[in-house]
Amino acid sequence: MTMWIEQLGADANNASAKTDAALVSLGYTGARLNSLVSSGFPVQSGFVIKAETCRYFLEHQALPDGFEAELTAAVEYIDASGLDADSTGKTPLFLTHKVSPKSRIAGVASPIYHLGLNSENARIMSKIMREQDPNFDAVSSSDKRAASQYRRFLYQFSEFALGVTPDVLEDLFDERKQELNLESEADFSLDQVIALSDDFRTLLADEHGVEFPDDLSAQLRQAIIAALKSWMSPRAVMQRQIQEIDDNEGLALLVRRGVFGDFDGKSGQGFLDTRNRKTGVNEIRGKFGWSIVGDQSARTSDFGMSLTEQEIGEGQSLFQDDPELHAKLAKLGRSIELHFERSQRIGFVVQAGECFIGESVDLQLSAIAQLRTSVDLAREGMISKNEAIMRIDATSLEQILHPSIDPEAERVVIGSGVSASPGAACGEIVFTAEDAISASRDGRKAILVRTETSPEDVLGMQRAEGILTIRGGMTSHAAVIARGMGTPCVCGAGSLRIDLGKEILLAAGRELKKGDLITLDGTRGEVLLGEIAMQKAVLSDEFRELMEWTDGARRMDVRTNAEAPQDVLAARQFGSTGIGLCRTEHMFFDGDRILAMREMILAETVEGRRTALDKLLPMQRSDFIELFEAGNGQPITIRLLDPPLHEFLPQAEEEIEHTADAMGVDVSVLHRRIEELHEFNPMLGHRGCRLAISHPEITEMQARAIFQAAIEAGKITGSPVVPEIMVPLVALKKELDFVKERINAVAKEVMEEMGVQVHYLVGTMIELPRAIIRADAIAESAEFFSFGTNDLTQMTFGISRDDASPFLKTYRQKAIVDEDPFVSLDMDGVAELIQMAVERGRATKPDLKIGICGEHGGDPASVKFFNKIGLDYVSCSPFRVPIARLAAAQANIEAQMIASSQTE
Ligand code: PEP
Ligand code: MG
Repeated sequence: MTMWIEQLGADANNASAKTDAALVSLGYTGARLNSLVSSGFPVQSGFVIKAETCRYFLEHQALPDGFEAELTAAVEYIDASGLDADSTGKTPLFLTHKVSPKSRIAGVASPIYHLGLNSENARIMSKIMREQDPNFDAVSSSDKRAASQYRRFLYQFSEFALGVTPDVLEDLFDERKQELNLESEADFSLDQVIALSDDFRTLLADEHGVEFPDDLSAQLRQAIIAALKSWMSPRAVMQRQIQEIDDNEGLALLVRRGVFGDFDGKSGQGFLDTRNRKTGVNEIRGKFGWSIVGDQSARTSDFGMSLTEQEIGEGQSLFQDDPELHAKLAKLGRSIELHFERSQRIGFVVQAGECFIGESVDLQLSAIAQLRTSVDLAREGMISKNEAIMRIDATSLEQILHPSIDPEAERVVIGSGVSASPGAACGEIVFTAEDAISASRDGRKAILVRTETSPEDVLGMQRAEGILTIRGGMTSHAAVIARGMGTPCVCGAGSLRIDLGKEILLAAGRELKKGDLITLDGTRGEVLLGEIAMQKAVLSDEFRELMEWTDGARRMDVRTNAEAPQDVLAARQFGSTGIGLCRTEHMFFDGDRILAMREMILAETVEGRRTALDKLLPMQRSDFIELFEAGNGQPITIRLLDPPLHEFLPQAEEEIEHTADAMGVDVSVLHRRIEELHEFNPMLGHRGCRLAISHPEITEMQARAIFQAAIEAGKITGSPVVPEIMVPLVALKKELDFVKERINAVAKEVMEEMGVQVHYLVGTMIELPRAIIRADAIAESAEFFSFGTNDLTQMTFGISRDDASPFLKTYRQKAIVDEDPFVSLDMDGVAELIQMAVERGRATKPDLKIGICGEHGGDPASVKFFNKIGLDYVSCSPFRVPIARLAAAQANIEAQMIASSQTE
């Protein structure tokens, strides 16, 4: 048993890369190579200096007793081992040294290739290459290769092991270049590099007080000490703080036999991806180069030939040039993928026709590729369906569900804001809803750019390809509507300015005119100049299959927030199980509805209001019938009117005049009513159930429309509709009681009139802190709760949901908050309130149905919490339904895993 160093493959107990013990001791790369070699894969010979050594070194500022002996033995073992091909015995031993941290971290030492290189060995290598490689018959070729390798080594070792900045050596090369009249460093001969290396050594000793060692063991020791020290470099310390990595974790180091070059015409180096990382198609990808020297050159994309299974021209395709080697690599890649049960990027060397693995790491896949690969592996039975579900980042589905910007395309970002609705769209700038409508009528694509949107803009928003607002955040009007429609939207792009008079948009020092092209990246929250190439959204078979698996794995239902029948149908296609929130106010803006609504608002008496409401009733009823039909028997929660009435009145003078004209009243009448309804703080004003208490006739009209429609739609579809009527902004039980009484009275009347019984529920939104505290009392009257986390976040923080995004951005930059609480639920505060309300509500009614319909219903982290506290459903905009389904399944699988580990 060795204490500090582990020979790759020597300890079968550490063989699994997945065991924590292996990772803690050998780091990620070390543990994986160890696992491969222990399972019989051909791995380049090497050893790992365990993280325990690093921890000892950090504590004692010295290497432990016994380390030296282990190191010498480990190096001798590599030298003697015939495990890999570069063990001809004719070449000096070279070693590659790199860090193997447990988790990827910046700021630690970079790799050093070819430890053991010195002037003498460089000459030997040049000679061997000249003698043995038929490709290198020209003296200058082998000489140049040896020279360039030695030059790179001088740079790497002095920088990474001795801490000398590269400009010291660079200056020396520059001087010599001029003296020798050479164009670039690559033109130096080996003799010239050797001469320069001697001068470099002298300079280092005289001016920097450092010794550049010549022999392998001294070089290796210095590289090891430098790498161990790099764990405490200021950059690494800061990175660990950001990534929350324990300082005591330490660093393992990996030492492997280094390959110098091609000695027999059958050697080289490359990397192989086991899948296409963009599409997930099961085909090998990568690069391979004969006689490529040293790992680092194989990192660049322009070396060697392709591993793709295509005949793309001689010298460009290994598949074509050496089908046998290609087949060998493909087989090796496949078995390593199966070994790790994940797609891999494998670094390998080929020596005398044999392949040896230098490294194997999980391949970074695009969202589409990750999905396809996980489903493929589960279909093949390599992993379970639950494992496939757990592997996919729920948020990454956004890239699958919406068009996205081509990752290769050049982006000129001219503004940024909240990524309010994902996807990408391109079009000409328009500044009004009317212009968006006329652009779409003429077949032109438009991006609607507004300071903020209001309900009057909805038609224009529907016609626009994308929506950009200067103000507002995740729960602003523009964001909510855009997400509902699946239209890309960026909100709160505060650095942009609109000059409506001149019809220009000022962005990043540019003046963009109406009609100029811009592109929105709603997924990243960026505004880009011009038209950028896009990728289409593709809902593959794998996507559909995975979604079906999630349904079997989740406990919570996933409903949608929608009021337009086409949105409900879209949501059902995405797998929603009902409507969790129909915001009825959105139904009052279309066509004649807005006129009748304005008439109702202008009426001075209850009778006047009732007359206007009588006009609205048939329109509401037919809207609800269409909605219920689209819902086809699924549960539907309808929220009574919520916003303050002034939102339905026109704002611009021109619009006011136009409305007064259409209603046949004097402009002054409209002005007076606008004045009367003005509130300093409308979000805390006359809205929600407060409206229903002041004007019960509005509630009565809505309830009548709902019940009549439920009966009608039930007859049409044959499936009875069970409406869930939801009262907004309740703080007091008595508020709910008051409204509920009116609803019940109307229900009774309608059922008697139509002679049909309707089963229905009356419940409330929980969106005020007082409602949380009194949830036990409110539950006596409510048949369900639905958390309005948008308002609840606003009311709990005392932060306006419409104005907060600019300073919340600053809060995030200054690490005051990790995430915008309107995007992802505030786990320390709002979440606790929700939990309290659930406990209190269910203490009164154990089977109380509870859901959430705020925007957090489509946020994976929040969904996890809602699953944990036992909510029955989450509700979100239609395009987020698949994300919520996946997140709900993941949350449930994780909860079950934790529960079963606790009972073991
Ligand atoms: C909420 O407040 O969370 C909610 C769903 O209602 P709205 O966004 O319409 O206020
Ligand atoms: Mg609300």
